[in-house]
Amino acid sequence: MLKSRFFWKLYAGYAALVLLAVVTVGVLVARRISSDSIAETDSRLHAQAVLIRDLARPSLAGDADPGLQQQVRDLGAAVGTRITVIRADGIVIADSDEDPAGMDNHGTRPEVIQALEEGSGSATRFSRTVAFNMMYVAVRVDKAGELLGYTRASVPLTIIRERLAVLRGIVVLGGVVAAVFALGIGLVVARRVTARLASVTEAAELIAGGSYGRRVDSVSQDEIGMLASAFNRMAAQLEERVQTISEDRTKLLTILGGMVEGVVAVDTEQHVLHLNAAAGRILQVMPGETLGKPIWQVTRVRHVSEAIEEVLRDAREVTGELDLEVEGQPRVVELHGAPLQNGAGGLVGAVLVLHDVTELRRLETVRQDFVANVSHELKTPITAIRGLIESILDHDDMPAETRSSFLGKIQNQSSRLSLLVTDLLTLARLESADGVVDPAPLDLRDPVQASVANFRSGAEEKGVGLHQEVPDRPVRVSGDAEALELVVNNLLDNALKYTPEGGRIQVRLRAEDGNAVLEVVDTGIGIAREHHDRIFERFYRVDKARSREVGGTGLGLSIVKHVCRAHGASISVESAVASGSTFSVILPLAPASV
Ligand code: ADP
Repeated sequence: MLKSRFFWKLYAGYAALVLLAVVTVGVLVARRISSDSIAETDSRLHAQAVLIRDLARPSLAGDADPGLQQQVRDLGAAVGTRITVIRADGIVIADSDEDPAGMDNHGTRPEVIQALEEGSGSATRFSRTVAFNMMYVAVRVDKAGELLGYTRASVPLTIIRERLAVLRGIVVLGGVVAAVFALGIGLVVARRVTARLASVTEAAELIAGGSYGRRVDSVSQDEIGMLASAFNRMAAQLEERVQTISEDRTKLLTILGGMVEGVVAVDTEQHVLHLNAAAGRILQVMPGETLGKPIWQVTRVRHVSEAIEEVLRDAREVTGELDLEVEGQPRVVELHGAPLQNGAGGLVGAVLVLHDVTELRRLETVRQDFVANVSHELKTPITAIRGLIESILDHDDMPAETRSSFLGKIQNQSSRLSLLVTDLLTLARLESADGVVDPAPLDLRDPVQASVANFRSGAEEKGVGLHQEVPDRPVRVSGDAEALELVVNNLLDNALKYTPEGGRIQVRLRAEDGNAVLEVVDTGIGIAREHHDRIFERFYRVDKARSREVGGTGLGLSIVKHVCRAHGASISVESAVASGSTFSVILPLAPASV
């Protein structure tokens, strides 16, 4: 408290005021007492001079009175006043303190001259007779309008001064006591005021430090009480706003953190204000370690710092594309930079959005390749058909045998076209649905057995053994029976296509560890290791000519993969050249049957 500057300012002001007031009042009172005292002495001396007048009149009138001197001396001693009787010519005829014979002519004394003119006169001056400063009051003594002389009463000024000193002492003592009281009360009041203000200050400091729940006790209705309640209202509003801001900030950070796009915000000095998790992944940095650092230190990707520099320099948006390597993988990242502005439109930084478009680009490429592939696949049979038809039309004289051979080829190409279109449509349907159209509980043995039955005659024709191993108990799964039959059909179709005469195909179905396991095993030409991942791609064929020859479209395994994915199943292949292939589909069993 005693360290409080406010306290000392308040108290010093108050104390100065109190002291000024006490001194002013003291001086005024002392002056008043002094003037009152002089006036009172003056009137007392006047009264005494008037009283002596009758006593002195006979002597002044010329009747010599030898007892007057003694009377004057006694009277003066009795009232403590020097009494002088002066004739009209200025000769002193009696004096209470001195021998009149030795005294000067008093006719020129100022009080005497004034008494001559006005009836009474007073003066304060040094008395050569008694060697003191004295106060004199003289009155005229008349008889029947004729001036007889003067009576004069006087006292030494030291007496008046002594009395005044006592009175002044009382005034000073009173002043000191009043000042001490007032200063004591002031001290208590100033301490209370300071203490209440200090509690507001303390609360303000705590709030400034982040304790927004802090409030000031405000009970009184005075200005400090009003200040405290205004402060509390302000604190409540502040708490609410800070909470809203921190909620908004959390939301914003959650949104930014959850964004697939990388977001980097910097200030005008290019120091990082925010860098979200996606940006951290793309730029290969830890977001937490980038805060406050200049962007050129955070990432070595030149394009990023250049883009930020451009945005800050020109205050306009920039776009671009980066080729990066993230975790050893080439990535294509789209970059979009925009200036960050404050409410007044001033530039306060820049924000950069990084969008990893690698997958998008890959899909675009896949789509373009697909369109090119489809066009190519369709073009081959169409060109062949057109050529054959033109030959037939151009050669009217074509032998019937050649013509029917041409027509046979046209038929082959047409059915190839039809197969291609059917597979494309199936693929398109599966891709657009991106899931099983109509999942229903089913026994996987049914589509497997139906499919095997489909291929039995074909296998016999080709001289390939076809066997199935199906459990006695139902293998319950949830799925689309038609689509799952298509899977078995395609796998069996391939097995038959790529297994030469005398070979053997086995279809095995079993339930194992909560899954249905379907295997199509053949003893055919097999697939070299490097093709295993790619044979499920659209139009990918290990040997194009051979596939075409056996009526393949390159879409069969693609369709299988799609159906499997839609059923939450996996498909894999084990194969080696000339030692046959095994395709395995693993599909989760329906919950009730697990
Ligand atoms: P296709 O219609 O050409 O058979 P798929 O997508 O069904 O197209 O198969 C892709 C490629 O995988 C085939 O061209 C073939 O080279 C190879 N392939 C598929 N199944 C077998 C198999 N059982 N034995 C050997 N090669 C196979």
